[in-house]
Order: sequence, then structure tokens, then C-alpha cells
Amino acid sequence: MSISSPHFQFVNEEDLNTCVNCGLCLPHCPTYRVTGEDIYSPRGRINLIRSVKHGDMELTKEVVNSLDTCIQCMGCEPACPSGVQYHNIISPVKTEIHQRRYWRDIPLRFGLYVVSHLPLLRLLTRIISVFQVLKAVPKRLQIPRVPFRRQQLLNYPHLSREKEVILFTGCVMDAWYRNVHEDTITLLNALGYSVVISGDEYGCCGALHEHAGFTKTAEKIQGNIPRSTDNATIIVNSAGCSASLKKTFKDSHEVLDINEFLYRHISDLHKLLIHRKEKVIIQEPCHLRHVQGISLEVTELLGIAFDVVQLDDDGLCCGAGGSFSFSQPEMANAVRGRKIAEITRVIESISPDSVRYVSSANPGCLSFLSSSAINIEIQHPVTLLKQSLR
Ligand code: SF4
Ligand code: SF4
Repeated sequence: MSISSPHFQFVNEEDLNTCVNCGLCLPHCPTYRVTGEDIYSPRGRINLIRSVKHGDMELTKEVVNSLDTCIQCMGCEPACPSGVQYHNIISPVKTEIHQRRYWRDIPLRFGLYVVSHLPLLRLLTRIISVFQVLKAVPKRLQIPRVPFRRQQLLNYPHLSREKEVILFTGCVMDAWYRNVHEDTITLLNALGYSVVISGDEYGCCGALHEHAGFTKTAEKIQGNIPRSTDNATIIVNSAGCSASLKKTFKDSHEVLDINEFLYRHISDLHKLLIHRKEKVIIQEPCHLRHVQGISLEVTELLGIAFDVVQLDDDGLCCGAGGSFSFSQPEMANAVRGRKIAEITRVIESISPDSVRYVSSANPGCLSFLSSSAINIEIQHPVTLLKQSLR
């Protein structure tokens, strides 16, 4: 073993050694499922990282490709009987890969720069709305229909201060899915909560930057988020952001994904919602199911108002993966293809007309699935629940 490798020295040796090469994670890895090749599996990637770190293998283009096509969905972690902390392994590797190819990442860096500068993102969103009217925005760009004018987020009625929460509005979620914020506020008000809007003061949470391997930028963004003295719970309706903000606020605030929060009020929701006698398929975002362990909650919540239909794919990723669908479009499209095939299979196995919606609690999954050829309405769970209020 050589000790002269300049690569991957930030990866903890103990984390690598936890992997016993059993291969039980393979069926849970979306990139392994579409390629069938070990180097696109968690086990294969861990072995490559170990070999490169130890200097037994060069960091070739093929190795970089294998590592960079990991979606970081973390489907492998709950499946691993040895408890391999795969996120600890892949995260510094992605950071190093992207530091080394700074110039190649310029378009992605620019895109994420826009995302984290809200006035710029809003300006771009307005321009997009005009092009959407002219039907000049291709579906593959994954941008939902956005209005030219932003509606104010209204929180009424103002209820008690004892029942007050902060709604984290974020970046893309606020610019492109403001309707989900409106629906979230309506539901929270219906449960008796006053809602304080986090707004531009909090800005973007940096999750997309972190996921893309731009760790320094992510840390800077996360460091700039104010730690307010108000100790109200922070509610987040984007699965990727709630996973990230739980780390950012771990010492100061309780952060809950909206599904987690609503689940705490499920008995009240049983009284507030009607059953619509429609079927909904749940597509579970990886950052909800694998990273935060929130799965049953969404099923039970949507089950109040709908007949819930589950996919039979163990929560495999849809391919969106933060900015993954932009940086690795080929792999992302292949992974999405499997997801769409499973959704289609399930719909056809029931009866083509009886499933009305697919529901997913993450903006990336919503937009990536909506930009596919599938012909079904795709909605955030909060929107479907809000529509089901008595
Ligand atoms: S990551 Fe876990 S499940 Fe996968 S091969 Fe290693 S020990 Fe086995
Ligand atoms: S994080 Fe997802 S894509 Fe990456 S190795 Fe694990 S299961 Fe595969």
C-alpha cells in the first residue's frame, strides 16, 4: 500500500473499514439498478475510494465518473446491516472532485449562485414567466408554471403567540412553489397556529450547494442564516431543506419537516379533512425517507383524505437529487425512467383512470417528475391536504 496518494485523505479510514462487502445495499442503489455494474453501487464506490486513497489506483476519469454519478440519495444507508455511514464517505469525496474541476462546474456554480441570491432568482423567474406564456420554455428545464406577479404570503388570522411557528420560505420553493407555502399557511392556520414568514432574512439554506459538493459556499450560506432569539419551531416544506436545516439549527431551534409537524396533529386533521375518494400514489423523496426516516407519516396523512397507493420499489430515488439532474442528466434520466415505469405499472395494475395524483414532498422531485412524459398531476402532499379541508 502506498501512502503517497494525494486523494481522498479526508475520508475516515474507520468509515471505509465498516463496509464488509456483503452487497446487501446493491438492490437499494438506483444507479446500480440502472447499470447493473458494481462500480455504480455503494460497495463498488467504497472500494474505489479506498483504493484511490491508499494509492493502489489512479483517480481516472472512469473512477471520477463512478463517484460523481452517486446521487447521494442515501438509499444504501438504511439497507446496510453493518451501519456504514456512507454520507461521511461520499460527502468529502464529492467536495474534492468538484474543487478539482472548478472551471467545468462554472455553469452549475452560476445556476446555484442565482438560486441563493433571491432578488436575482425572482428577476429570472419573472422573465421565465413571460417566456412560459410564449410557450418558449422547454419542459426538460423542469420549471413549473410561475406567475409574473408574486402574491404576498398572508398569515391570517393572527392567532395566539403560544401557538406560533416560523415557516422557512427558502429560495426555489418560494420562487417557483409559492402556492405550496400558501397551502402550508392555510393548513397551519386551520390547526390554530400563527405563522411567521422567515422570508429573505433567512434566504436559501445551502442544501443544493452542499449536495453539489460546493461545501465552502454551503457553509458560508449556512453561517449567514440568522439564529433568531424567537424559539418557535421552524417548519420546512421541502424535504431537502428540512434535512439540511436540522443540522444548521441543531443547537438553537427545533426544525420539523411539515409532514412531521402535521403528523403530530393527525387527530385534529381527521376532523378537518374530508375523504375525497380519489387515489394518490406517493413518491417518497430520499431526503425525507432515507435521511430523515419520515415515511409512514406521509402515508397516514394522505390516507385521511385519499386512498393511498404505494409504489413497489423500496423508495428508490427518482433521479432528481438536488442539481444532479443538471450535472448528470444521462444517469438522472435513466433513474427517472425506472421510477416512471413503476408509477405506470402501478397505475395500470389498478385501473388507468382511478389514480388521480402522484404526490412528492420535495420541489426537486416535483419538477423532475413533472418534466417527464408522464401524464398525471404531480402535487406536494400539503397542497392535496389543503384542498381536502372541509
Ligand atoms: S455498504 Fe453495507 S450493505 Fe453495502 S456492501 Fe458495504 S457493508 Fe454491505
Ligand atoms: S447514495 Fe444512492 S446513488 Fe449513491 S451509492 Fe448510495 S444508494 Fe447508490
